[in-house]
Amino acid sequence: MRKKIVAGNWKMNLNLGEGYTLVAEILSKLPSLSESQQVIIAPPFLHTQQTITQTQYTPFVSVASQTCHHETSGAFTGEISATMLKDAGVRYTLVGHSERRAFNSEDNALLAKKTSAALDAGIDVIFCCGESLDIRDAEQQNDYVAQQLKESLFHLDAKAMSNIVIAYEPIWAIGTGRTASAQQAQDMHQHIRSVLVAQYGQEVAQNTSILYGGSCKASNAAELFAGEDVDGGLIGGAALVADDFIGIIKAMIAAK
Ligand code: PEP
Repeated sequence: MRKKIVAGNWKMNLNLGEGYTLVAEILSKLPSLSESQQVIIAPPFLHTQQTITQTQYTPFVSVASQTCHHETSGAFTGEISATMLKDAGVRYTLVGHSERRAFNSEDNALLAKKTSAALDAGIDVIFCCGESLDIRDAEQQNDYVAQQLKESLFHLDAKAMSNIVIAYEPIWAIGTGRTASAQQAQDMHQHIRSVLVAQYGQEVAQNTSILYGGSCKASNAAELFAGEDVDGGLIGGAALVADDFIGIIKAMIAAK
C-alpha cells in the first residue's frame, strides 16, 4: 500500500530537553492518523531512545535515524550500525541526504551499501536524491536523479523495494527558502515513478511513496502535496516548530 508520509529531519538541532518538549507538543496536537499515513521523526542519534519512548504508544508515528553505517559492527569510531538502531526500536533511516553526500563524501556506491545494511537489519530506508542548481540549470536533472536511483537502489529486488521510500530533495531548495514549484515537484516525482516502472514494473512503482523535500512549510504543503505523484514531504526547518510540523501533517492528511 502506498503511504502518505511526513518525515521531520531535525538535523543537528535541539538538546534533549528541547527535543522532549517538541515531541510532546507535536503529539498533543497530532490529528488522528490512519493506516495509510505515517509521521516520522528523525532526531539526532542522542535523542533516539527518548523519542522512541515518547512516541511508542502513538499509532502511525515512527522514529528514524538520519543515517546509519554500512557495516554491522567493528572498528568504526563514532559510527552507529543499522542493527544497533533496529535493536533500539528505530523503524526508518534516511540514506543519502544531500548534506551527508556533501559533508561526509557519501557517494552512490556507499549509499547502496548503507541501503542494504539498513534493509538487512529490518529498517526501512528513506532514500534521498536530488540535483544541484547547476544540474537543474543545464536541464540534466532527470538523468542525474535516475542515475542516483540506479547506482544506489537498483541492486535491490522487487521485494526489498517495498521497504524503500524515495525523497526527492532538489539541493537548491534545501534550507534556502526557495521551493520547487508544485509543477516542478510533480514532474520529477512522475519521472522517478517512471524510472521505477521501467526497472521494477507498475506494481512496485505504484506502491512506492515519493516525498518532496526542500523548504516545504505549512503554507505551501497543500499545493506541493496536491501532485498526483507527491506522497508527502521530508521536512527540515519546519519540523523544528510543532505548529508548523502539524500544519504540514494536516496538509498531508487532506491531500487527495
Ligand atoms: C531537509 O533537510 O531534508 C530539508 C528538506 O530541509 P528544509 O525543509 O529546511 O529545506
